[in-house]
Parts: sequence; structure tokens; C-alpha cells
Amino acid sequence: MKVFKFGGASVKDANAVRNVARILDEYSGESLVVVVSAMGKTTNALEKVMTEWYQGNSDSHNLTSEIVSYHNTILEILFPEKDHPVYISFNERINQLQSILLKGPSGNYDMDYDQVVSMGEILSTVIIHEYLLSKGKPSAWVDVRDIVRTDNTWREGKVDWDVTTSLIQKSLFPILEKGGLVLTQGFLGSTAEGQTTTLGREGSDYTAAILSYGLDAEEMVIWKDVPGLLNADPKYFSKTEKLASISYREAIELSYYGATIIHPKTIKPLQNKSIPLSIKSFVDTASDGTLIQEDTKSDHLIPSFIFKVDQVLLSISPRDFSFIDEQNLSDILALFADLNIHIHLMQNTALSFSVCIDNNDRKLPLLFDALRKNYKVRYNTGLELITIRHYDQPTIDRVMEDGKFILLEMRSRATAQFVVRPIP
Ligand code: ASP
Ligand code: MG
Repeated sequence: MKVFKFGGASVKDANAVRNVARILDEYSGESLVVVVSAMGKTTNALEKVMTEWYQGNSDSHNLTSEIVSYHNTILEILFPEKDHPVYISFNERINQLQSILLKGPSGNYDMDYDQVVSMGEILSTVIIHEYLLSKGKPSAWVDVRDIVRTDNTWREGKVDWDVTTSLIQKSLFPILEKGGLVLTQGFLGSTAEGQTTTLGREGSDYTAAILSYGLDAEEMVIWKDVPGLLNADPKYFSKTEKLASISYREAIELSYYGATIIHPKTIKPLQNKSIPLSIKSFVDTASDGTLIQEDTKSDHLIPSFIFKVDQVLLSISPRDFSFIDEQNLSDILALFADLNIHIHLMQNTALSFSVCIDNNDRKLPLLFDALRKNYKVRYNTGLELITIRHYDQPTIDRVMEDGKFILLEMRSRATAQFVVRPIP
């Protein structure tokens, strides 16, 4: 039994949905669990609905018109018959969304966010389910909220693994044992009281990993618009290479340093049960993609580059010229933890402690105020952080060749990091 994940880009229009059905055809005869995200950029559109709704726009038709017409365009191409039952199910879900909006915001933004933004996945799976049926491919539509149990940390639900595993097995095994296809939503969960939660943006990868774990899947596959995991983001690097095989360990390192290809929580459940993860192209389904598994022997073969822009380098020194010691460090780090500010790199000398963090208009002033009570703070903005895994001197030279001023650098055996200012 395999678990597949299709992200927003893989179901962004009618042709993309047809392509998903074609891929599933290639696997007919296998038991499959198919996890699907919201179509295209629907999650962003729903986030916009949230903002406008909280700003006091109470017209639920206005609020949802963009989302309704986007999905309708897809529906009309896939289901030309106006009396197809999909239109009834789709409209029921839209009414459900509009009635939430009509009630007005509760005041708990994050809780409301989960009730509203979750509708993207519900809409996409309703449409894809009906499309598969219309192509003679029976699929069981499962509401993932019935099987993924979380606490009520809105927008970042923490999974209750025991309850979730038993719910998954109870409801999915009977379908899968008969060789069936389960179609369900990524990104969503539900509390014990039955309220919808979400797992954090891009959380559908994580959902697929949760289901793989619960079912002891033989393999999980993420279908993407790229040929696999690349060693650099094509947005910043003209020459990229595909990594054919890396270990779970390396995948976690890469996502820790900011590679955005898979949701960072995805690997652990798979590693815990030794379930291999493939990242494959939904355009070129015959090509191999990337395999992520236990074996570390290929990790060092190709250097990977991770590039972060809009970075801030902070230097923090005690006001009274005392040393940076363990007590200072623990006080300083507690301030970062309280504000939930992630440190990408840290380094200290006798008199100062330096960190590289993302720029953030809201949090940085709060951090500075708190630090300045006891410390002198100097900072530079507009910087870049370059991380190179499995570096050697030629790769470092290549990255620096456009001319960059290095403010701070740090090297361990496998990782080199540079905080730089681009030279204009
Ligand atoms: N639709 C959600 C998002 O865009 C979850 C996902 O795509 O993985 O964040
Ligand atoms: Mg998405």
C-alpha cells in the first residue's frame, strides 16, 4: 500500500486534475491513499478572505466570489453536464463556508482561520472525487478530520499519535484491504470536540506522512512540478542538479537550513517506520525522482545550496563589558524563544554574541526593546545567508564569484554558512 500526495500545483486547473487521474490509472490494482491539497493558490485566497472578513467586510458572497469562480471554471470543464451531482456537493460546501462567514468573526483569529481556510482542501477533494468516479475509478472520499486527531493549537495542531493511528487503521484498512483507493485532504485535523484544525502551511506533506505511519505504508510519494529534490533553488541558481538519493538525516538537515521542498515535520514519522519517501515529477512520471531513505552513503556526492534573503545579523554585548557567559546566553536565548524567533546561525566571542535571523517588522522591535535592557545591540539588515552542505573550496568560490562581502562565516565538517552583503 502506497500513500500519494498531490499539492496545489498538481491540481491547479482542469488539465492538472485530468493528469492526476492518469497517474492514478498507472497504479490501478494497488491499494492507494491519495492526499490532496487545495487547488492552486486557494489557501492564499482563503487567507485573504480571513483578513477582509476581520476588517469588517461581512458580505459572504463578495468575500468568496473569487474562490467560487475559480473552482467553477474547473468544474465547468470537467463536468459539462449542468445537472452533474458534483454541483450539488460543491454548492453545499460553499454554503457551509458562507454560513461561517455570515456569523461574523468569533474574535479568536487563529481558531476562525482553521474553520475557514480548511475549506480549500474540502472543495478540491469533492471535485476530484467526483471526477475519478466519472472516469470509472471508484474512490472512497474520507474526511481526514475523522482520522487525524490534534490538540487545539490552532494553525499548528499537535497530533495525538495514538488516537490518530487507531482511527486511521479502523477506518482505512477495511477499504484498502479490498484494493480500494482512499481520497482525502491534506493539512487538516480535528480536536476531540470535533473542531477543525490545520497543521501549518504546506502541511499536506505532513498529513501524508501521518497516514503512512499509521498504515505502515510501503512507500510515500510526493508528486511535484520539479523532477525531484534539487541541490539549489532554481529561483537563485541557474545550474541545479537533482539529488537521486539522500538519507532522512540529510533531508532534515536541508529543511532545517531553509530548503523549502518538503514540510519539515514530514521526515520523522517516515524515518521512525523506515518508510521510503519518493519525490517524483507529475509531468514526467517515468523518471526516477529523488528517493529519501535510511542510507547515508550518497549524501555527500553533490553539494547543496540554501539561500535566504532579507536576513538580519545582530551582535549582542553586555553593557558593562562583562564576558558573554552561560548565564547571559541562557537569558538571551530565552528572549528569542519567547518571541518564537528562529535563529539560523549563532556565534560568540568573549564580548559579543551574534545571530542571524529573518527580518520581521513586528517581532524585531520587541526583541530589541527586551535585549536593550541589559545589552548593547548592533545590527545589519538586507543580508543574505548562504548555507552549503557538503562544501568544498571550488563550490564556495562559485557561490562567491558575483562578489559578496562576508560579514560572518562558520564551517563544520559538512556545512559551511556565510552571512554576506551582496556587492552592488
Ligand atoms: N493548502 C495548504 C497550503 O497551501 C496545505 C498544502 O498545500 O500543503 O499551505
Ligand atoms: Mg499548497
